[in-house]
Amino acid sequence: MRIVILGPPGSGKGTAAQQLSKKHGIPHISTGEILRKAISEQTELGKKIAPVINSGKLIPDDLMVDVIRSRLSADDCQEGFLLDGFPRTVTQAEALDGLLAEINLELDAVVNLIVPDDEVIRRLSKRQTCIQCGTIYAADYTKDVCDKCGGRLGIRQDDKPEVVGERLKVYEKQTSPLVKYYREKDLIIEVNGIGSPEEVFRQVEQVIKGKD
Ligand code: AMP
Repeated sequence: MRIVILGPPGSGKGTAAQQLSKKHGIPHISTGEILRKAISEQTELGKKIAPVINSGKLIPDDLMVDVIRSRLSADDCQEGFLLDGFPRTVTQAEALDGLLAEINLELDAVVNLIVPDDEVIRRLSKRQTCIQCGTIYAADYTKDVCDKCGGRLGIRQDDKPEVVGERLKVYEKQTSPLVKYYREKDLIIEVNGIGSPEEVFRQVEQVIKGKD
């Protein structure tokens, strides 16, 4: 199972990918999390990208393709993977096709989570993220500590209202053309991202099965 999950920020990509990963035993690869880890560990990469992420813009394609090339070559990706947050541009999608073709593989499906902007803004204004492991806690919880790792919960810098608008613009301009790109390859499956995480997960499972 090699799947890409597309959708605007706050559409529930991460949550759906976490659930699919657990159920199917394949890795959930979130480029946002890889980058945030590099920032918190203050690596060279982290220092370079922090201002870009915090402004809501995208990291350059060549850098991202290097990140994903190295991650996909790890042993745990042999049986499949769920990509969350990559590709985000047509250039990245073409590079991904190239990387997979080198090892005679192709994507199985691209799930497009559809959520309107006003709902995205509502969700992002309230969500909390574990600063240690990246687990996302939806909106209406009033927790301080992560259930999974005990890390502190906080609001991501790029979930702040002044950055969210920029992220949505970037999504529309640079990432939404991927829907056409993958539709032409007959890979897109659309899922209504409104509803509880359980409902969204159920729908995603159904459409993936239907694709088999
Ligand atoms: P996410 O956690 O997927 O919302 O990603 C958070 C931020 O990381 C994005 O707003 C971008 O600044 C950066 N980022 C993550 N994935 C990519 C990518 N594939 N290409 C460029 N920038 C990315």
